[in-house]
Amino acid sequence: MREAMYYQPHEKDILCSLCPKGCIIPEGRAGLCRVRRNIGNTLYTENYAACSSYALDPIEKKPLYHFYPGSLLLSLGTWGCNFSCSFCQNWEIAQENPQTIRLLPERAVKLAEEQKEQGNIGIAYTYSEPSVWYEYVLDTAKEIKRAGMKNVLVTNGFINKQPLLEILPYVDALNIDVKAFTNEFYHKICAGSLDSVKETVALAASACHVEITTLLVPGLNDDQQEIAELASWLGTINKDIPLHLSRYFPNYKMKAAPTTESTMKMARDIAEQHLNYVYLGNMEGQGTNTYCPKCDKLLIDRNKWRSTMVDKNKCPQCGSIISIIGDIAF
Ligand code: SF4
Ligand code: SF4
Ligand SMILES: [Zn+2]
Repeated sequence: MREAMYYQPHEKDILCSLCPKGCIIPEGRAGLCRVRRNIGNTLYTENYAACSSYALDPIEKKPLYHFYPGSLLLSLGTWGCNFSCSFCQNWEIAQENPQTIRLLPERAVKLAEEQKEQGNIGIAYTYSEPSVWYEYVLDTAKEIKRAGMKNVLVTNGFINKQPLLEILPYVDALNIDVKAFTNEFYHKICAGSLDSVKETVALAASACHVEITTLLVPGLNDDQQEIAELASWLGTINKDIPLHLSRYFPNYKMKAAPTTESTMKMARDIAEQHLNYVYLGNMEGQGTNTYCPKCDKLLIDRNKWRSTMVDKNKCPQCGSIISIIGDIAF
């Protein structure tokens, strides 16, 4: 347990200012994310170095498709979350109390360095929500930068501006969930708010590499107009931001039928009117390839793990600049 950052006294209680929930936490109690507790008017982070899941994952699994394609990341998760999405794929760790191991920052960095030979380029803070593991992620991210490796956050983007600005200099890439493009969805399904997530996306995109994931749930966020608005807004930030449209399957408390393949493809067609790179996820390999936005040349075939690019930033057919950061490892 460590003393938490970003809190202040609030009458007899504590106000946590790490995320927009702004929990007012009485003595002995934890905030809504379950991992920040008021003990004797000091706020403690109960999950510091408490690692519930770890694996050496392909970067494409985060998903990041335009950042060091084909590389690997040591992926670490904790427990707790500041959302309570009814479709949560990681509910066993986000909403329950999983077993954890103690993995201090120095040990995590050493592990990542030992995996360099296998193709590891750094650490991804993922599985559960990294915002509510803030102090640990910040300490580890600083060490990873010192080791010359990369930090990746896979996040719901629900964090206040100040803590975000403090951690961004150490972050190389983020995949941010934009779970829908209405506040109604965020309130009802996730217990969050869209406006704060939009602010995070804009700030992060001005600081480092960003990709976006949207899980399309039938009848809840797959309306054509809504998809067009989401893609159009992203396009105003940067048309090169990759958008991953992920197919929903029943999970946790949500029992609706899976999204149809035709809805997924329709959504991609709409989003492509506003963005250069739109991908499909959970579609058995369909929609994962990278094409040149100008001449349609196949650039990266993710079913065969093959790239046609001789120069990683240029289309070999028309010479257009392709926004891919880092080397392609296949
Ligand atoms: S980080 Fe946790 S305790 Fe702090 S405001 Fe958000 S939900 Fe509440
Ligand atoms: S933000 Fe992610 S981890 Fe948290 S409840 Fe939602 S889906 Fe689960
Ligand atoms: Zn081209």
